[in-house]
Amino acid sequence: MTYLRKGNRDLIKEINRNLVLNLIKSRGPVSRTEIARLSGLSPATISGISADFITAGLVHEMGEGESTGGRRPVLLRLNQQAGFVVGVKLMEHAVTSALTDLDANVLHHRVTPLEHARDFSAVLEAIVRAIEMTIEESEVDWARVLGIGIGMAGVIRGEAGLCHYSPFFGWRDVKVAEPIEAHFALPVYIDNDVNTLTIAEQWFGYGHGVDDFVVVTVGRGIGAGIVVNGQFYRGALGGAGEFGHITLAREGPLCDCGKRGCLEALASDPAVLRMVRERITTGEETALAGVGALTLKDVICAAESGDQVAREALAYSGRWLGVGVANLVNILNPQLVIVAGEGVQAGEYRFEAMREAIQIHTFDGLAEELKIVIEPSGDETWARGAASLVLGEIFKHPLYRNERIDLVASMA
Ligand SMILES: [Zn+2]
Repeated sequence: MTYLRKGNRDLIKEINRNLVLNLIKSRGPVSRTEIARLSGLSPATISGISADFITAGLVHEMGEGESTGGRRPVLLRLNQQAGFVVGVKLMEHAVTSALTDLDANVLHHRVTPLEHARDFSAVLEAIVRAIEMTIEESEVDWARVLGIGIGMAGVIRGEAGLCHYSPFFGWRDVKVAEPIEAHFALPVYIDNDVNTLTIAEQWFGYGHGVDDFVVVTVGRGIGAGIVVNGQFYRGALGGAGEFGHITLAREGPLCDCGKRGCLEALASDPAVLRMVRERITTGEETALAGVGALTLKDVICAAESGDQVAREALAYSGRWLGVGVANLVNILNPQLVIVAGEGVQAGEYRFEAMREAIQIHTFDGLAEELKIVIEPSGDETWARGAASLVLGEIFKHPLYRNERIDLVASMA
């Protein structure tokens, strides 16, 4: 464990530094006096730490704060651009990558197509190229890039940098992080894509400061990231949150995973398309009948122009999604549910039905205080999530942190 590797003095120093850094990040612009008050550390300790931060370029002194009589204090704020990280979302047909600052603001993002590549060496080449292009195009100093985060679907063993199982690529136990780390000489973190999105919400989004929340993603698949008591919940094998594969209809449609009646088989984007196709087959009247390669966008457009089949297919998926979320609420009783992913573009055609179903199927009282946020989703959202994997490490308490990243040391 981390704390056994260091002397106590070093560790205490690091904990104090982390505390001050997080106060500047969350409260800044903030005075040294206020930091001392909030942290309980001595003014001398605060002076020493903030001097180190300023020398490293991590913190800027600025303006003057409210005077409480006497001299106006100088305020400290985090220099968001003291460092940058790259986030990569690996998909079936493309690599989306983004460069963010320390506050997870996306400064540049790109989509690199992945032409039918399945074997690891070809995908690896595409990832490396995507990272290089992202840094080049964003025109930041390479020396200021602190780390790389990678998110992908499947069962990922983050500690080992390992993809244990990828349904898209058919990989089993592939070491993804190691060769990228060797190529760039930077720390590389990898996690399941839904997990990265949840970590992004926890550090920089709606989940910030919320102890119990769930991120539900809907799109090609359905997943969930769970935060309980302020901690990200992974489960015994790291497989917690396979929300798409809870069984809701024992005799229901076949799912990609091989089982029947999974939530994903009833409520994902492909499930919407399947339902539309079924109704076309039975001869129902719909503008979608003549459309060749049907997409969710086609269905949304049709719904917007009043097509009943399109509207009902979206509402059907929303209702099942609501049943699934209600089950989650009954088990976890979260304060907040964040819905994200590319399926969010269906808007209220899907989510009105979802909200109704949540009300109907949630145990009495649990839905009253429940807040539901629908997060707009773009290409860069997932890559930003992956970047947050690194940013989370930077700001994490030293006892829980992976030793590979130290912001102040890397600035020096
Ligand atoms: Zn399934």
